[in-house]
Amino acid sequence: METWFDEFNKQVFSDTLPKVKISFNNTRRQLGLFYWGRGRGIGIKISLFWDRTEEQYRNCLLHEMCHLYCYDRGWVGEHHGARWQNIAAYAYNKTGLYIQRCEDITGWEAAGEANKEKLKAVADKKNAPAILLDLCYPSRHFIVKTTRKVLQSNKSIDSNCVLKTAAGSYKVFVSDAPLFASWQTSRSVHRGYSYDNWRYERDIKPLLDNAIEIDSLRKLFQGDCNCLGINV
Ligand SMILES: [Zn+2]
Repeated sequence: METWFDEFNKQVFSDTLPKVKISFNNTRRQLGLFYWGRGRGIGIKISLFWDRTEEQYRNCLLHEMCHLYCYDRGWVGEHHGARWQNIAAYAYNKTGLYIQRCEDITGWEAAGEANKEKLKAVADKKNAPAILLDLCYPSRHFIVKTTRKVLQSNKSIDSNCVLKTAAGSYKVFVSDAPLFASWQTSRSVHRGYSYDNWRYERDIKPLLDNAIEIDSLRKLFQGDCNCLGINV
């Protein structure tokens, strides 16, 4: 959610919105809420009651951010008035998200208790730290984007992981677990990127050695590899 907030802040509000607390609740009637004042500070709450898609969560967050925008400009009590409508229309223009005043919830399913954690994970997905794992063995490196959970379920990798550098939500670990030493050079990691040593030395290592360049590294992945599946 924070990552989406930052994205929208940049895309729609030219980075002018103040950072606010984003939290979750479980109300049936309000999908989202912008609150302020009386010692509560200001913040946004998103309901996890309904089974919503990622786009619906994004939509809801952007809607509340428009309220934050109005509040921040001193238009307290604007609600869904003309100035709110203006910024909502502008947001639609920028993002293609039509942030209706009220979403039609006909036919929506309540998420149910068992589903709550899963939903929260969807809403929170982009908050999860991205872990880049540099799997090295004698003649080749694999750079993969993975999650803590996957790492922990592969003990032989996890126990060999060393944090190399970190920047923003990215952490880069290196593993030279014996597991990889036995791999054929032609072996590919699902959704991973394989580099010969010379190319690794030239293109990748300088990035890993310098956390400031992590954005360049992120570009290499272009967001299309979310999880590593390792067959051991
Ligand atoms: Zn509203």
